[in-house]
Amino acid sequence: MPHVKLCPSCERRNLAYNTVCEFCGTSLDQTAPFDAPELVAPKLTLNQYTLTVPLQVELVIGRSDPQNDWKPDIDLAPFGGTSGAGVSRRHARLVWYGHWQIEDLGSANGTWLNRHRLQSGEPLDLTAGSIIQIGKLYLVYHG
Ligand SMILES: [Zn+2]
Repeated sequence: MPHVKLCPSCERRNLAYNTVCEFCGTSLDQTAPFDAPELVAPKLTLNQYTLTVPLQVELVIGRSDPQNDWKPDIDLAPFGGTSGAGVSRRHARLVWYGHWQIEDLGSANGTWLNRHRLQSGEPLDLTAGSIIQIGKLYLVYHG
């Protein structure tokens, strides 16, 4: 299954279903998607727990909000991911481009990768052993 389109204008990677470039707005209608390596779910741990992660190319990390009927793909609420711990409902996302990248979604309290604070719209590559800080919680990416 093809996962990725390269924008002909800014050359940044988009998910295959994007019809316009997420970064510069260029139309991607004429851009053929290409195959990224087979999708593998990221292995993530938080303290001693292995997080349950659905097999999909885009994963929103955050905290569920039952009052508003919201549940992110990776829900940190059962692990202490409250607003008091600085976790937003839609905090960050992981995107599969043949490897996993992480991007902050304009969270109130920020996302860090190996102690580097992500700027909004600045996706960074995950590598095995990467430490992801979501508010006050620390996740480890194992590949
Ligand atoms: Zn573009």
